[in-house]
Amino acid sequence: MKLALVGIGKIALDQHVPAIAGSDVWSLAATVSRHGSVDGVENYADFDRFLAERGDIGTVSLCLPPVPRFRFAARALAAGRHVMLEKPPGATLAECHALIGLAESRGLSLYATWHSREAPRVATAKAWLADRVLRRLTVTWKEDVRRWHPNQDWIWQPGGMGVFDPGINALSILTEILPVEVHLTRATLSVPANRQTPIAADLFFHHPGGAEIEAVFDWRQDGDQIWTIEAVTEDGTMTLLDGGARMLLDGAEDAATPDLGPLGGEYPQLYAKMAALIARGDIDMDLRPMVHVSDALALGRRVAVAPFYD
Ligand code: NAP
Repeated sequence: MKLALVGIGKIALDQHVPAIAGSDVWSLAATVSRHGSVDGVENYADFDRFLAERGDIGTVSLCLPPVPRFRFAARALAAGRHVMLEKPPGATLAECHALIGLAESRGLSLYATWHSREAPRVATAKAWLADRVLRRLTVTWKEDVRRWHPNQDWIWQPGGMGVFDPGINALSILTEILPVEVHLTRATLSVPANRQTPIAADLFFHHPGGAEIEAVFDWRQDGDQIWTIEAVTEDGTMTLLDGGARMLLDGAEDAATPDLGPLGGEYPQLYAKMAALIARGDIDMDLRPMVHVSDALALGRRVAVAPFYD
């Protein structure tokens, strides 16, 4: 199946291009980008020209930041293309619902991808938690923004989400592995005095069984980067490490995990799922991770912290 990648930046080059190259199903038939390109693939600087000229390409995969994404997705759906969305699926929930309506009315597939859910141990963690009584769950997502988002101004602008850009990955795992729904009750957002979006956030959730649920996100982490979810249950503790790449049960490694490198294996699975969605004529737009971010931005108490300079 022919596919076009839109927005040739960091994630398109790091993950999407290799995942498509390694796929038996997909072929990268065009790119759309003002500054980027992929060797040997025709690039269009103008999206409308691409849509008009390349009726042979049935699917577009949008790797843009969240704010510009809606107008690209809406035009692609209006032009009869299936659409795959990088996370987060949009800048607001309302625009995501508008996209669902557009896709439904045209019988097209639309996929809000959550790459972290494809990490090797996430499904095992979900199965382990399914029939256990949870007492406490703590998400700790601490990384160095200078290392992962060098000079990306959009993350600091309205709609860029700040530390929720990686934090939403943790929330995508949380909403996947918990057998019940939680909702946010309070949050503290630390916002640099010269920026629009938080550099750190503490989130607290209501759990229907009374478990304590907290998420701590921080972009000011030196040294080791931490992407951990620890779940304490009535019969043992499960710890997801390295963003779901490894899992401990009561401190012991659950099983050898294949070393696929950073984000290894996640994007090939997203592309396989997109092909399956199209084959079934289906839509997959799970917006729960984004609901928690929106709630934190709505309810969160803002604290001004030191200005941030790249
Ligand atoms: P990026 O490199 O800053 O931007 C991606 C591309 O989007 C840019 O190269 C740019 O291409 C295009 N773009 C940016 N602003 C635009 C605008 N206003 N209008 C049209 N095109 C625009 O960002 P990224 O790190 O790849 O992240 C993109 C998305 O992937 C984000 O939602 C992010 O959360 C997600 N993601 C990123 C990572 C990561 O490690 N970086 C990991 C997983 C997911 P042109 O200027 O050439 O058109």
